[in-house]
Amino acid sequence: MNAALPVEVLKQHLIDPEICIRCNTCEETCPIDAITHDSNNYVVDPDICNGCMACVPPCPTGSIDNWRLVVRTEAYSLQDQLGWDELPREQPLPEAAGAAPAEADATLAPAPAAAVAIPSAAPGASVPPWSAAHPYVNLYTHKTPVTATVVGNYRVTGADTDSDIHHIVLDFGELPFPVLEGQSIGILPPGADAQGRPHHARQYSLASPRDGERAGYNNLSLTVKRVTEDHQGQSAHGVCSNYLCDLAKNDTVQVIGPFGHTFLMPNHPRANLIMICTGTGSAPMRAMTERYRRRIETGENGRLLLFFGARTERELPYFGPLMKLPRDFIDINLALSREAGQPKRYVQDLIRERAAAVRELLADRNTCIYVCGLKGMEVGVLDALREVTMQAGQDWTILHDVLRREGRLHFETY
Ligand code: FAD
Repeated sequence: MNAALPVEVLKQHLIDPEICIRCNTCEETCPIDAITHDSNNYVVDPDICNGCMACVPPCPTGSIDNWRLVVRTEAYSLQDQLGWDELPREQPLPEAAGAAPAEADATLAPAPAAAVAIPSAAPGASVPPWSAAHPYVNLYTHKTPVTATVVGNYRVTGADTDSDIHHIVLDFGELPFPVLEGQSIGILPPGADAQGRPHHARQYSLASPRDGERAGYNNLSLTVKRVTEDHQGQSAHGVCSNYLCDLAKNDTVQVIGPFGHTFLMPNHPRANLIMICTGTGSAPMRAMTERYRRRIETGENGRLLLFFGARTERELPYFGPLMKLPRDFIDINLALSREAGQPKRYVQDLIRERAAAVRELLADRNTCIYVCGLKGMEVGVLDALREVTMQAGQDWTILHDVLRREGRLHFETY
C-alpha cells in the first residue's frame, strides 16, 4: 500500500477582523511588509510572514495574535482575508499532515528568500514603564459595545481658526469602564460605509486621568479634531470625528475598548515625564498632567517637561487651562509654526533649545518620554533627541535601546 505523502503544515498568522480597530500599528511595525489592508480589513500575507512576532506586542487590542493550523497549499489568501467579517474556525488537518507544530517560528512559516530583510527597530518601547498599573483591554468589543452618554461637548480651539477641536465627556453610568492615562477607546460611528458594511471603529486617546474627567465619577474625556481635509489637504468629511464633534448633551455613543498596554505612565513616586505633542496628541498629556495635578499636595511628583506644537496659540487645545498651571509644577514649551510676527518653530526646535533640561531628565532613570500627535513628528523628535544626547558625548544608539528596553520611550502617532 502507498504511504500518504507528507503535507506541509503552516501555523498561519491571521488578524481577527472583529477585534481589529484598524489603527495601522501592525502594518507599520512589520519589518518585512507582510501586513497590508484595504478599506475593510488588515491582513497578513502567508507567503511573506515569517512569524517573527514583531507586530504582536504593539497591537493595542490583541487582534493580531491569531493563528490557524492549515495545510500550506491551502493557506487563507489575502483575498480570502480581505473579505472576512470574522475569523474562520480552526479546521481539522488531514491525517497526512501529521503532528501539529507547537510554536509560531520560522520553521513553521519559512520566509521566501525574497522576503528576508533586516528588521528595523520600532522607534518606541513595546513594554510599559516597570511601575505602570495593569491596564484592562478589550472589555467591550464590536460585538459587545458599551453605551456611553455625552455629558459635555465643547470646542477647545479658537472659534476663528480652521482647527475645530472638541473636548467631549462621556459618562458610563453604572457600567464598569476602567482606564489608565495613555489608553484609548474605540468609537463605533452609526451608519455604513460605501460597501454597506457598518463603519469600523475609530480610536481616540483618553484626555482624562484614571479617576475620571471629574474625579470620582465614572466618566472620561476625549480630544477630537473635526476632520474636514484628508492628509493631502483635499476636502474630506471624516465619518467619526464629525459625528463626535456634532454630538449633543444626552446623546449616546457606542464605545469599545479600552485599548493600549504600553503607552502608560509610571506609577512610582518622583517619576519625571517628558511630553512631546502636537494638536490632539495633547490628549494623553492632559490625562497624565491632570493625574499629577490631583496629587500635587502629596509632594511625590517628579518633574513635568512639556513640548507642545500647533500653528498658533488659538489652535492649541486647552491653551487657557494649560497656561494657568503653576510654573513650578510643569515646564511648558510652546512651538508655534504660524504665529504672526514670530519665527516658525516646531517641537524638535524647542527640544534642541532646551537641550540642557532634556539631558538632565534623560540622565535620571525615573524619566519617561511620551510622543503623541502627527505621524510626521517621529523622525524630527528622534533626530532632536539624538542631537541633544550626542552634544554631551553620549551614544544615542545605546541610550535609545535602554529607553526602549526599559519602557521609557513611547510613541503614539496617527
Ligand atoms: P475618516 O472618515 O476615517 O477619514 C476621512 C479622510 O480623512 C480620509 O481620507 C483619511 O485618510 C483622512 N484622515 C483620517 N484621519 C485624519 C486625521 N487625523 N487628519 C487628517 N486627515 C485624516 N484623533 C483625534 O481627533 N483625537 C485623538 O485623541 C486621536 N487618538 C488616536 C489614537 C490612536 C492610537 C489612533 C490610531 C488614532 C487616533 N486618532 C485621534 C485618529 C482617529 O482615530 C481618526 O482616524 C480620526 O478622527 C479620523 O477619523 P474620521 O472617521 O473622522 O475620518
